[in-house]
Parts: sequence; structure tokens; C-alpha cells
Amino acid sequence: MVSATQSAHSAGTQQQSRRILELIALGSATSRSELAKQLSLAPSTVSLRVQELVELGVIHEDGVGESRGGRRPRVLRLSESRGQILVADVGGQHVRIGRLDLTGSLLETRSLDVRVDQGPEKTLRAVADAMKDMAASSAQGDRGISGVGVSLPGPVDVRTNSVELPSRMPGWPGFAVGDWLEDEFGVPVIVDNDANLMALGEHHAQLGAEHHSITVKAGTAIGSGIIVNGQLYRGASGAAGDVTHTRIAAAEAEPCSCGNTGCLETVASGAALVRQLNRQNVQVRTTADVLALTRLADPVATTLVRTAGTYLGEVLSSVVNFFNPDALFLTGGMASCEPFIAAVRSRVYEGCHPLVTQNLRIEAASTGPDAGLLGGGRLVLEKILDTATD
Ligand SMILES: [Zn+2]
Repeated sequence: MVSATQSAHSAGTQQQSRRILELIALGSATSRSELAKQLSLAPSTVSLRVQELVELGVIHEDGVGESRGGRRPRVLRLSESRGQILVADVGGQHVRIGRLDLTGSLLETRSLDVRVDQGPEKTLRAVADAMKDMAASSAQGDRGISGVGVSLPGPVDVRTNSVELPSRMPGWPGFAVGDWLEDEFGVPVIVDNDANLMALGEHHAQLGAEHHSITVKAGTAIGSGIIVNGQLYRGASGAAGDVTHTRIAAAEAEPCSCGNTGCLETVASGAALVRQLNRQNVQVRTTADVLALTRLADPVATTLVRTAGTYLGEVLSSVVNFFNPDALFLTGGMASCEPFIAAVRSRVYEGCHPLVTQNLRIEAASTGPDAGLLGGGRLVLEKILDTATD
């Protein structure tokens, strides 16, 4: 049994290790003395953390630097050549797999046609085989696998690394995804939901550890992830960022998949737009069909997408007023539609206090389909550090 003091101590050392890695990765510090100065830590503490990271193979000493009087400092570098991280972004119809180095850079991606509705074991078997093949057939095949991450399209209990109550994932609730992957690979594993990992990936592609952001995925469904001081914020029960079931007056009594009525999802999601167009006898089947119509400047589809952006903006304006983030990033299929982004932006600006919008960025996410892979890679790296410094 670990005492509260011990676990606080261990959380502190992990935080120190992460900050050290971050400064080395960004090139902001290359020696122990620079690290000590920038982190306001005792040189002996920095030496200890650096030693742990060297033993772990995450960083190494690479020659000596310029002397500023006294002994020339040894230069510290990330050992991107020492291992590989594999991350799978599991969607409803297909899986995207990414291979990253130990600095979190994405080296290669691959797509698999695997459907989650065939259940967890078949899906994970296909994912694990593809991951192993990708790692072995790469130019860095001799590096070995250091950690594995999986992004799932449903709520994940991160304490047990399993899926909770997913409506679109039959057979998955309660299945211990993390345990299955740990048995398969024998390395640290993370499992999280797609909106969280996308938010983490986009945040760190755009902003740093001192910033706060919200990334909203607007596609067939709507989800969002919250980043506070560069870290994922999950909330008390892991449901933070679930804006889709916020009640909105415009949705009136429209029944929602959650059993309630009048949720944002029923009027602003891609699925809702498909339904609304079908009611007007426009034959569309998927969110992609709706977006294709907007690209052809179809007036009915474009108006519906713009209205969906206004509804999303209405819900997000209270979130933004309350949370005061540096940025609101939009990703998913709908974010590829400029009228949608413009509608969200104008509704948020209209509904927020000038103090929260004066420096607020509202824009399409820059990482596109790689956001979840990048965010997953980052969490895996943290897990590798946690495991090593426990
Ligand atoms: Zn709902």
C-alpha cells in the first residue's frame, strides 16, 4: 500500500521527468545546469531524474557543449532511435494506425478496414497483428516496441482501461482492452476515448504546457476534449467535455440516443443533418454525403450546416465564458466546411464576454486525421515514464 505522501512524491517526480523531456525535446535546454535553472530545481534533483531517463533509454548524452566558465557540460538529447510507439485510432468502420518515435513524432500511418461491431477480440487481434507488422517491416524494425496506445470511439474508464456504455460498440462494455493489449505486447499501454486524444494531440501541435484549449470533434457525432495547462482534464467520472447532450431550445422535443430529448446532438451532429435532409426528400446517407452537397454549394445543405454551427456555437459560448481557454479547435468532418466554422465563430463571439474572446483562437484543427495518433503517442510516452519512475 502506497501512502499519500509517497504517491504525491511519485507524482512530483513524474512531473519533473516530463518537464525535463519536454525542454530537451523543444531544444530549450540541453544540459543538466540549464534544466536546473529553467525548472528551478536543485542540480542534484535534476541529475537524479536525468539518470533515470538515461537508464530508461529515453535520453542519452551526446558529446559536450560550450563551456560558460568551468567544466564543459554534457549535452543531453532525446533517444528517438531507441524504441517505437504504436497507436491505433479505432473508428466505427476502420482503424488508423500510427508509428511514432520516442520524441512523439509520427513516422508512418496505415489504414485498416476493421469494424468495431465485430466485437473487441476480433478487432484487437487485427489491430495488434497490423501493429506488429508495421513495427517489424519499418526501417527501424530492430528498435522494438516501447509502448502501445488505443483510441476508442466511446467513453473509456481509464482506471480499468475498458469501455463503458457505448451505444455503437456491441460486445465492448466491460472488456478489459488495456489488459488484453498488455498481455499481447508486454509493454506499457494506454486506452482513451477519441475526443480526449485528439484534443491532446491538437493542443500540443499548437500550444504548450502553460495553455488551455478545447477541441471539439464535429462529425456524425459530437464530442470534445479539454486541456488544462497542457494536461488532459477528464473530470470526476471521466465524462468531462461531453457537450453533445446539452439541452438546447431549438431541439425542442427531438428524441436523442441518450434517452433524453432536445440534446445538441439531435440538431447539430452529422447524423442529425442526414435525418433533416431525408425529411426534405434529399437522398443522403452519411455525413460525408451532406458535406459533398455543401461543396457543390447546395443551398439547403449549406444552410443546415451553418445552422448546426450556430447551435454548436451557442452551447460552446457558455463553455468558453466559463472556462476562458486560449483556443477552441474544431475537428472531424464538419470542420472541413468553412461555413460551419464561421457560424461557430460568430455565435461564440456574440455570446461571450469580450474579456474571454479578446485573444481567443477559433479555428479548424491543424493535425487533421493525425490528432488522435499524436495525442495517443504523447500519453503512451507519459505512461512509459510513469512506469519507469514508479
Ligand atoms: Zn442526448
